[in-house]
Parts: sequence; structure tokens; C-alpha cells
Amino acid sequence: MQKQRVVIIGSGPAGFAAALYTARAQLSTTIIAGNQIGGQVSITSEIENYLGFEHLTGPELVQKFQDHVENFGAEVVYDMVTEVDFSRGSPFIVKTHGETYSADTVIIAIGADPRKLKVPGEAEYIGQGVSYCGTCDGFFFRGKDILVVGGGDSAVEEAIFLTRFANSVTVVHRRDELRANAQLQLRAFANKKISFIWDTVVEEIKAGDNGIVNATTLRNLNTGEVYDKPTEGVFVFIGHIPNSAVFGDQVATNDAGYILTDQRMRTNVDGIFAAGEIQDSIWRQVATSVGQGVAAGMSAIHWLEENEETLQTLDEPETETVS
Ligand code: NAP
Repeated sequence: MQKQRVVIIGSGPAGFAAALYTARAQLSTTIIAGNQIGGQVSITSEIENYLGFEHLTGPELVQKFQDHVENFGAEVVYDMVTEVDFSRGSPFIVKTHGETYSADTVIIAIGADPRKLKVPGEAEYIGQGVSYCGTCDGFFFRGKDILVVGGGDSAVEEAIFLTRFANSVTVVHRRDELRANAQLQLRAFANKKISFIWDTVVEEIKAGDNGIVNATTLRNLNTGEVYDKPTEGVFVFIGHIPNSAVFGDQVATNDAGYILTDQRMRTNVDGIFAAGEIQDSIWRQVATSVGQGVAAGMSAIHWLEENEETLQTLDEPETETVS
């Protein structure tokens, strides 16, 4: 059993930002990275909207995050959380494949994954024409003809946003009416760059010899017709899946599985905080996740100060870190 003041579950922008604050406050901090360090950022080809960094790749930003927190003494562990026990209060038990942690505080920053179409070509061409974020990637589709998949608020809002860049945006939806709110529908129907293909699903995403998306195979659910539609990009907005299953009912979530927090990033469990896309279904930006991570880190620091007398004794004294 390894004792820590702070265990952070997840290594996206929120987790790293929280770690920077707790490690700089000289609190022993472990980040459990999960199956992909950096989370969704690591599969983002180019980032241009993170303030202060005009142009860098997702993996470059993740490396900067990691270097930064490690320089201040946080430990990054390449492991997955398999089980937690929050039922007896602090210290909390966090189990991974390789270790069991006893943590005075836990910051959950495990993120949410975009729901996938699960069709051939989708995973293969992420960053080569397949995207799950218009705000992140729209700029790279200037003058292009693209598809948006989905019929909810996200799909329609992003379709409208993408018309700033694209030559045309075709929304492919599996039904003949949108789920999106009426106001968004009005704006989309009035937008000359947007057209709709109804009652239709994507069966495959195809690319040319250069490995860049150039077509989708579509199937009309009413007629059964299957055909190829040329396109230079496929934006998929069919919902997100928050990664909260591992916590069971130990932390309060909404019906969709997003962890509920207050403005201080406190969950319903005293000493457990959450930040980033595991508690935010709206903004989903590196910058907003960083802000929420900072808030969670600061809240954890305050919580540890307030509960100083009841904290566990660590095996090793907390180390001096660079200031
Ligand atoms: P959502 O409301 O769950 O909509 C998902 C859409 O994707 C639905 O149209 C659904 O079709 C379709 N879909 C789901 N699985 C599919 C599959 N396997 N293949 C093809 N299509 C599939 O998700 P969201 O649009 O991301 O919105 C999430 C939440 O955030 C909602 O509460 C929404 O109101 C909110 N939101 C609000 C705003 C805003 O107010 N401006 C903006 C974005 C999001 P069906 O319609 O047939 O089920």
C-alpha cells in the first residue's frame, strides 16, 4: 500500500493542472495516467487555441504538461484504476493493476470519450479527416466539403460553427428529425452551406492513397440503398461517454454519468474532487479543463490544510520541491 496526500485519476489537462498546484504546494502527488497519457489531447493532431501556444501538436502539449508537473515533484504512473473504496472517508483506497494507494484526497479527472460510430476507417483516420471537435479542427477544413454525423445540439451547433471554414457541411442523421433544440434547428435550416441527409447512417470511412479521408459509405435506413459520398472530412458528434463506471455509485453523478460538483470542484464525498470532462459536458476545451483542474487542485490543498490533524502519516516525508 502506497500512501499519498493526493491521488489524481486521469492525465488529461485537468489532471495535470491539478497536479501542478498540489505538487508545488509540496504535497505528495501521484497521477494515475490511464491507458493513454494526455487523454484526448494526445490524439489531437494540432492545437491552436490554447492561450500562449499558437501552434503545437497534442502530443507536444502533453509532453510539456508532464515535464512541468514532474519538475515540481509529481509522479506519473502508467497504470489504470481498477477499483476504488470511498465508503469509509479519507484516506481513500484507489487500486490499480499494479498498486493500492491510500490517498488523503482524490481528484477525479478521468474524462469522457466521444461516442464512436464504430465503423471501419473511423479509428484509422482520426486526425486524417476524422474529428470529434469542430472548435479544435475546423480551421484545418477551410474551403472543404465535409460531413457532420449526429442530430443533437452538439452536431447542429458544430455544423453551424464549421460553416465558418468549410465550403459545405452535410449533416447525416439516422432519423428524419433532429434532436437539437428548435433555435439551433432554425439557424441550421437557414444556413445555405448546410444540407441534410436523413434516415441515414455511416457504414465506412474511406481514404485515398495519401491516407486522408476522401469518402464515406452511407446507408439509407428506409430504402436500404448503400452508396459512397465523397467528403474531405467527417465530424462525429453522437454524444459522449463519461468514464465514471469505475466509481459505481460511490460518487454522485447525473443521469448521463457526469460527476456532480460545486463551484469548488467538490463532489458529494468530502475530500474527493472532480475536474475536466468527467464533470463538464459543455465546454470540453483544453483551457477550460485546465481551469477546472487548477480549481480542484486548490480546493484539495485547502481541504488538506483544514484537515491537517487527521491526515495519515506518510511512509516518506514530503520532499522539498523547486519553488
Ligand atoms: P445527444 O443529445 O445525446 O445527441 C446525440 C445525437 O447523436 C442524437 O441525435 C442521436 O440520434 C445521435 N446518435 C447517437 N448514437 C448514434 C449512433 N451510434 N449513430 C448515429 N447517430 C447516433 O448528444 P449531444 O448533442 O452531444 O448533447 C449532449 C448534451 O449537451 C445534451 O443535453 C445537449 O442538450 C447538451 N448540449 C447543449 C448545447 C447547447 O445548448 N448549445 C450544445 C451542445 C450540447 P437520435 O436523435 O436518433 O437519438
